[in-house]
Amino acid sequence: MIPLRIKVEANADQPFVVRLRSLEADGREPKTEQVSPFDVVLDRIGPEGAHYVGEGGPIRILGIDPAKVDGYVLLVNPRRGTADRLIRSSSQHNTFLVTERCDQVCLMCSQPPKRHHVDLFPYFETAALLAPEGATIGISGGEPTLFKGELFDFLQRVLSARPDLSFHVLTNGQHFGEGDREVMSRIDRGRVVWGIPLYSRDAAVHDEIVAKAGAHEQLLENLALMCRLGAQVELRTVLMRPNTDGLPKLASFIAATLPFIRTWAIMQMENIGFGRMNWKRLFYDNSEGFDIVGRSIDLVRSRGIDAWLYNFPLCTVPEPYRGLAPATISDWKRAYRDECNGCSVKDRCGGFFEWHPANHGYSKLGAIQ
Ligand code: SF4
Repeated sequence: MIPLRIKVEANADQPFVVRLRSLEADGREPKTEQVSPFDVVLDRIGPEGAHYVGEGGPIRILGIDPAKVDGYVLLVNPRRGTADRLIRSSSQHNTFLVTERCDQVCLMCSQPPKRHHVDLFPYFETAALLAPEGATIGISGGEPTLFKGELFDFLQRVLSARPDLSFHVLTNGQHFGEGDREVMSRIDRGRVVWGIPLYSRDAAVHDEIVAKAGAHEQLLENLALMCRLGAQVELRTVLMRPNTDGLPKLASFIAATLPFIRTWAIMQMENIGFGRMNWKRLFYDNSEGFDIVGRSIDLVRSRGIDAWLYNFPLCTVPEPYRGLAPATISDWKRAYRDECNGCSVKDRCGGFFEWHPANHGYSKLGAIQ
């Protein structure tokens, strides 16, 4: 695994995208059709780094094992001497962080918003076109639809050029409008899932969590629009003390009013960003009180709507619901605790985010025999 940001040396002024190829190092001859103009092929490995050559010239990459990064796509910033990892070829799920701006300030936000924005869509487009066959690419922020013109164009172009790819876009759902009908109808609806958070049936609770007056009303209006457009929606609800009591009411509302959604994901908090700052006030220990979560899941599932538990350690979930708790924490940011040693379900448990503190907050946690 290479880190998100690595050191490089390249003789260029402007940022550029490259895909690392190690074919020759493996003893395989690169086939001509396999090498794109964005590929750089491993030439040699020395004490001073791995040397790659390509149409744009040589680059040198420091601190990585080339054998482990064949097919990785990087955004190289030669002036800074760094490269950001955009695509891991070994993963079918890569995410582009397209902006750090957002119009909400959610209490548990793991990526607190920043004012600064640089448009990297052209680089993301190049990277997406170099993604492995059949990949799903995540789009996140910040709030990606603050730049919805660029986003819609990006989706349309990549989906047209790569019929095998699909996207999962995280959005607060605040910025869609009737005016988007035409452009959205040109995007292949079957290959884009919109992950949209709804925290409560109660508008005051939702608005307080996202720190934006009127957000709930706007969201419901836009969810109706998404329904009319035939968009695939994954509704997301982060489980927190302020909204846990209202979870069954939200489940009833989803079953009665939003049956068109593709899935409902109840998510555990991430201990980073504002989530870490507000942890003591917000974290709900489901290992102590799963009943209210279980009842809410049962309710929507009884109406034919899929419901899932994201970021839940399996031992904090009663056995009948463990099949609904996939390992959603990506392997590169996943960690386990001492308690996990010898656990019989470790290979299918997502564990914890790497940055989760040792005093984990779950009162009941331990290896399942
Ligand atoms: S003990 Fe660890 S590996 Fe086992 S279920 Fe709990 S968190 Fe997952």
